[in-house]
Amino acid sequence: MSRPDRLLIVSNRLPITVRLEEGSVQVSHSSGGVATGLRGCHERSEGAWLGWPGDLARLSSAQRTELDRKLAAQRIVPVELSASEVRRYYEGFSNGVLWPLFHYLLDRIPVGASDWDTYREVNAKFADAIVAHYRPGSLVWIHDYQLMLVPGLVRERLPEARIGFFLHIPFPAPDVFRILPWREDILHGILGADLIGFHTFSYQRHFADALLHLLGLESSVDRAVVGGREVRLGVFPMGVDVESFEKLASDPGVQADADAIRRDAAGRQILLGVDRLDYTKGIPRRLLAVERLLESDPSWRDRIRFIQLAVPSRTKIEMYQGFRREVEETVGRINGAFGTVGSVPIHYLYRSVSPRRLVALYRAADAMVVTPVRDGMNLVAKEFVASRTDGDGVLVLSELAGASAELGEALLVNPYDVSGMAATLRRALTMDATERTTRMLNLRERVVAQDIHRWAGQFLEALRQCAAVAPARALRPTSPERMEDLQARLRHATRLVLLLDYDGTLVAMPSAPGLLPPDPDLIDLLAALAARPKTTVHLVSGRRRETLDRWFGPMGLVLWAEHGLWRRAGADQPWEQMASVSSEWVSRVRPMLEQYTRSTPGSLIEERSASIAWHHRMADPEYGSMQARDLRSVLGQAMSNMPVEIVEENKAIDLRPHGVTRGRIVERILKSVPRPVTIAAFGNDREDEDMFRALPSSSVAVHVGRAASKAGYRLPDHLAVRAFLAGLAGD
Ligand code: UDP
Repeated sequence: MSRPDRLLIVSNRLPITVRLEEGSVQVSHSSGGVATGLRGCHERSEGAWLGWPGDLARLSSAQRTELDRKLAAQRIVPVELSASEVRRYYEGFSNGVLWPLFHYLLDRIPVGASDWDTYREVNAKFADAIVAHYRPGSLVWIHDYQLMLVPGLVRERLPEARIGFFLHIPFPAPDVFRILPWREDILHGILGADLIGFHTFSYQRHFADALLHLLGLESSVDRAVVGGREVRLGVFPMGVDVESFEKLASDPGVQADADAIRRDAAGRQILLGVDRLDYTKGIPRRLLAVERLLESDPSWRDRIRFIQLAVPSRTKIEMYQGFRREVEETVGRINGAFGTVGSVPIHYLYRSVSPRRLVALYRAADAMVVTPVRDGMNLVAKEFVASRTDGDGVLVLSELAGASAELGEALLVNPYDVSGMAATLRRALTMDATERTTRMLNLRERVVAQDIHRWAGQFLEALRQCAAVAPARALRPTSPERMEDLQARLRHATRLVLLLDYDGTLVAMPSAPGLLPPDPDLIDLLAALAARPKTTVHLVSGRRRETLDRWFGPMGLVLWAEHGLWRRAGADQPWEQMASVSSEWVSRVRPMLEQYTRSTPGSLIEERSASIAWHHRMADPEYGSMQARDLRSVLGQAMSNMPVEIVEENKAIDLRPHGVTRGRIVERILKSVPRPVTIAAFGNDREDEDMFRALPSSSVAVHVGRAASKAGYRLPDHLAVRAFLAGLAGD
């Protein structure tokens, strides 16, 4: 194995707590999921972890020196924030505005909230720290919603850096996200990364939709091209530190604690809730569901105990103080109504507990109730599963938690449906042992396989790979010197085959098929190239034979129409069909395309001999792309058993018979051309990549534009292609 990359981890909070003990500074590790997951990567790499260390104002200067020494030994870099920065950037903007907005809880955003300027300034401070600790080749991994501008700010100053960003909370649907007045800034900020990670596909899709709706930026499934750089989107569901939970679960002391919790419940079944006291966690409705269960049948009163551990959180934010009162009043009311002299149904604990105690609770519970009204992932659900090495216990899980995308064997609930939740609690408490075990063992398989270390490893591997596939610099045009060298090489080739794509390569991308015939200059250029000794010019197009005939009829070019279905070998030669294909399917697909054409103003159908395409270049960009995505999925289903390929092109969907690709054109040329030969292929679109892939290694591929490409050379546009070819023709 090669040496691990130098990794800079950047998170709002450092994974440590600084304490003073008898005048001496103590640095202890935090035990949170991310902290644990990344600590291994941090320790293996020679990089640094950058983040806010918490309030250090109380330290004397000697203590401060001691702290700096201790942090430096662990390669931890504190990014210090003033009290006002913490109030505005962290409590005000991050937790006061972004947190509720990204969790769809718009009414939790204080009216008149605005700490955007400080958010920007603190993000710039983090970017400064990264730049100061960066060395060429470092990987930079930035975390979460507090730092969404940082990737962009770092990119401006370190264009070559490899930057990953992971969002630990949901990315909301575009209708919600667009409420944020600084929405474009946030998107541009995140797009500074090479790899953007989310917990679920749905968050990734929301992000891609926001790019399209707000920036007009198209992405194809898992990637987008931004200012000439390729940005990857990926789904990396975060896991938990399974090993440490399993270890605690088998600890005799922890088991004894779990037994004691059960004994204390005196035969009652235990329902357990564990959450930060946050309004996203769905605690009030969960309490109401327990109340509804108690109301539904008086016998439940002596049969259940609901333990709710509420971990204090964000206590300085007013919204959280009010929320705490609301929860505690509800607990009091329910206990007042259903308690007896000796016992109350809800045991409410407002504090945090040690990991040992937490696992004892997980082990003691008959059912774990995790019902957030929105949650990026929810690790508590996975920790419960990781702790249940006994294969027992029922997980009740909100369908609005990211974890529900993976944990299908949980009893899924809608956290807004109080009656539905009550019914599910009843089901959980009465489930037979066989079903409980079957469900839990399946859950465990998934949770154990996708643990926190796997998550970190997969993200970093993807970051390394996306950098290897498309380093930022490779998306820039090739230097003039290299292009000149290439020109000289082609000029001296013993035999030269030029494979030229038409639209977007020799002329600009047309707004509709048929609109951009060749201009006289282009005709002259192609004629001059064709007249060169030992040179054959192949013109490759998706267009119909008739069109190519009209434009290039008398010229000595080899013409390939419909992406290679038809070939005309020279000026007076007939067209030959290169593959026998059926076009019967075209008549079946046409009505579908017609329907989308009717409902998408500006779109049109292009029909050829054995293929058909739907173009939306002239339609409203946002609506056109939306319709294209829709149509793509309708066609995918309708055509799944037909010998047809559905190819998404730039602003078009092309349907063509299987096996007709530009790669085949290259294969055919290679069969017939005498050696030695140099083939130089020029193209701008995804299907030209087929052509590039099929080229032998001695050939040359030139990509036109700024999309990701396999080509070894790049020119910015069709004008540069023409200039290059003119240099070749004029020797
Ligand atoms: N947790 C904790 N102290 C406690 C109880 C729980 O630190 O007293 C941990 C719990 O083990 C889990 C985390 O808090 O790892 C909560 O993570 P989750 O993803 O469920 O929600 P978040 O707090 O990140 O919104």
